[in-house]
Amino acid sequence: MPLYRNYRECHRVVWMMLPMFSLEGQGRVLDTMISLDNELANELGKPISDAAMRYELTQSLKTVLWEIPLAVEMGFGQWLRKEIPIKIDALGYHDKNCNEQGDCTICQEIPNM
Ligand SMILES: [Zn+2]
Repeated sequence: MPLYRNYRECHRVVWMMLPMFSLEGQGRVLDTMISLDNELANELGKPISDAAMRYELTQSLKTVLWEIPLAVEMGFGQWLRKEIPIKIDALGYHDKNCNEQGDCTICQEIPNM
């Protein structure tokens, strides 16, 4: 079973994980997100599949997972299978309960959800 329904969900989950990493690590993952977003927006370019985008962002995320001792200990695959559903649940809570002031508990922790 895929970890994410689509790239949009993958993008949002990785965004929520960013504060777990060093500034350098965050920058590296953000660079990937920005280049994928650009690729998505560039209609003249070669179309990139949703699955390919999810794969690329996941690969980028894995380059910074070394910073999380538990992820190293558990193995990245297993850590992601534990952590991603938690983030998806939080996103569901945010989507359901958030108001325009953005003062739901998720938004207080992670800006620009
Ligand atoms: Zn919210």
